[in-house]
Amino acid sequence: MNQDAKTRSQRAVRQLLESWQRSGVTYLRQMEPVSQMSADVPSVVEAPQEKPVQTVAPRASFPPQSIVPPPQSTETPEEPTLESDQARKEMSVPRTTKSKMNKGDRQAELEIIASQVSQCTKCPELAETRTQTVFGVGNPRAKIMFIGEAPGADEDKQGEPFVGRAGKLLDKIIEACQLKRSDIYIANILRCRPPGNRNPSDLEASNCRGFLDAQIEIVDPDYIVCWGSVAAKNLLHSDLPIGKMRGDFYEYGRAKVVCTYHPSYLLRNPSAKKNVWEDMIYLFADMGIDLKTQD
Ligand code: URA
Repeated sequence: MNQDAKTRSQRAVRQLLESWQRSGVTYLRQMEPVSQMSADVPSVVEAPQEKPVQTVAPRASFPPQSIVPPPQSTETPEEPTLESDQARKEMSVPRTTKSKMNKGDRQAELEIIASQVSQCTKCPELAETRTQTVFGVGNPRAKIMFIGEAPGADEDKQGEPFVGRAGKLLDKIIEACQLKRSDIYIANILRCRPPGNRNPSDLEASNCRGFLDAQIEIVDPDYIVCWGSVAAKNLLHSDLPIGKMRGDFYEYGRAKVVCTYHPSYLLRNPSAKKNVWEDMIYLFADMGIDLKTQD
């Protein structure tokens, strides 16, 4: 990126963040099921890619192939009530067109935001207790973005999301989908570790929201996976339990959002791995990729 373009893009990102702060709007809420939308996404990692990937073979031990479930689970979400339909409409924002930014420009913009994050003191307790901020990692033009809850002790030490035990399981899930960690962009609701790994407060999530939204805006993924109820609740502003949010697509800007169980939950409840695998099958089917046929 030349200097002018870099300066322009820096200014644009700064203005974007400042305008969100000034207006008090720290997030773009959207929560409308889009199950009927057509899939026009040929490749799983990033566009453009010449050869559409049709089927992939799970390679990792997640999940055991003998327990690959049928597409519909018993936890299919209930029909939304009229009240929640109304709430979803109110949260709706128009879908934008795909960003044309190249990978280098996206990386440069992400680095600008990351450097702002590293100096952030909006949450005094987190700023005081963190070893470092944990911004996000991965392909700056990934088609799939993962959103978790917040850094834990390992992430706080290493400065990268999902590197502890839950992260190792997440890696297995990624591998089972025949992707590499570097194909995906991974971020969290919070960029600092809450002491004792407590849940993020609403204020902390809202303080960090501008950064998350900037990451989503820059990476501009086609799909977002919310890992666990903290991610789903905060991104989509839903109070539904995660079990009820599974099995449907929601909208967030241009992205289709899938919600599933957090890998930490899977460590405590391994029987739910089959549900997560089902959710991966659902997401990949929307991209035209059949994870089931490659046992
Ligand atoms: N759990 C999360 O939600 N995020 C991380 O980065 C690590 C563990």
